[in-house]
Amino acid sequence: MPEKFDCIIVGAGPAGVSCAYALAKAGLDVLIIERGEYPGAKNVMGGVLYRKMLDDIIPGFYKEAPLERPVVEQRFMLLDRESAVTFSYKGLEWGREPYNCFTVLRAKFDQWFAQKAVEAGALLINETVVQECIVQDGRVVGVRTDRPDGDVYADVVVLADGVNSLLAKSLGFHKEWKPDEVALATMEVLKLDKTTIEERFNLEPNQGCTIEIFGDATQGILGTGFVYTNKDSINIGVGALLSGLIKHKLKPYELLERLKQHPLIRPLIAGSEPQEYLAHLIPEGGYRSMPKLVGHGVLVVGDAAQLVNSIHREGSNLAMTSGVLAAEAIITAKELNDFSENILDSYRINLLNSFVGQDLKKYKAATHHFERFPQYFEQYIPMLNRAAGRFLTVDGTPKKEKQKQLVRQMGTVGERFKIARDILRAWKVMK
Ligand code: FAD
Repeated sequence: MPEKFDCIIVGAGPAGVSCAYALAKAGLDVLIIERGEYPGAKNVMGGVLYRKMLDDIIPGFYKEAPLERPVVEQRFMLLDRESAVTFSYKGLEWGREPYNCFTVLRAKFDQWFAQKAVEAGALLINETVVQECIVQDGRVVGVRTDRPDGDVYADVVVLADGVNSLLAKSLGFHKEWKPDEVALATMEVLKLDKTTIEERFNLEPNQGCTIEIFGDATQGILGTGFVYTNKDSINIGVGALLSGLIKHKLKPYELLERLKQHPLIRPLIAGSEPQEYLAHLIPEGGYRSMPKLVGHGVLVVGDAAQLVNSIHREGSNLAMTSGVLAAEAIITAKELNDFSENILDSYRINLLNSFVGQDLKKYKAATHHFERFPQYFEQYIPMLNRAAGRFLTVDGTPKKEKQKQLVRQMGTVGERFKIARDILRAWKVMK
């Protein structure tokens, strides 16, 4: 092992490994330090991996990576106690090359991806915790690990240590995340045979389906439930903003249990066997919560930098793109032999100009808006379900009268005005 590396990467998740792969391909000496027994051992994801960003890193990766199913259908359920308004997109083109996205199990996928970085020349050390960054004269020059003689040095350190990122916090890049900046998610992997999955979700072999569930999945607080199909298992989970869970004194595992028992969800998972139970935080503060991204000799990528687009359930792809952009900045810094904040700052600029920065900026007010005005999830989803139920029930009422009833059901003129105002407000924060 060289005494000093060109780059040390803390964390072998999608952000860290993407960065390591790009640096190793460019011929730099890279060390990845991972605290888990193996990459993915401690990592959690609902399970949708987007094709484009990884294809840019490893073209045609889907021919060899351990993937579950290419997703051909995405359903969205607005769930009430006994009803749901559901809409979906099913496109068979997503089941063919070049594909849109895949379900994955992180424990398998992360190991494969990290191995690709190792094959490209990176060194991976597992079961090692980075305790702090070594700072000299205001520059990060290495990391202190929990191993005996555990100090390791490098020109640059990349913090890819996920949502908790104690390291970025200890450098003063951000404060403790507030409860409205993180969601707490719990999920289960349920074993179910392949044919049953395909029959229940109306799939051909090697086709997958995802369902995002709003409303009753989180008892009306801001968050979502999800059901994703793997080859021979189903991922089911619920994530909700920590502030909402605290305010309503709800426990995430109770929400998950309730979702599993919901009369519209129960038949999808009937007969399955619990295989794994997982819990994890998701950074949901978005653009306004992004920490300082660059310092002298240090960059922050992925979840550690709050790079999650919770409206679109995207995180792993933002993590990968941030890892690659960080690598590009490091390669330039290496050419100039200048690892100052000024040179590394091209990472921040390119990140903000990329789809990552643009998407997070677009939705910068969304999470806080929906948290501040709980009526969208608490009131409007049940109201929509009641309206759909009544309108579609054939009871001899003329349709014109039904329409009038639906308008009356929305309340007084003042209440209707409030709904119209909320729709406009939602449009403004999402546009
Ligand atoms: P992580 O994947 O968290 O990796 C961080 C790594 O750093 C870990 O391996 C950890 O062990 C290691 N580490 C941490 N601290 C240290 C330390 N001090 N020393 C050494 N190693 C350390 N995204 C999607 O794209 N699609 C989805 O469907 C989706 N669903 C999700 C569902 C759930 C329930 C959750 C929790 C997240 C979901 N996400 C999803 C988000 C996605 O998982 C993350 O955005 C992504 O994993 C971020 O990658 P990362 O590399 O930044 O962090």
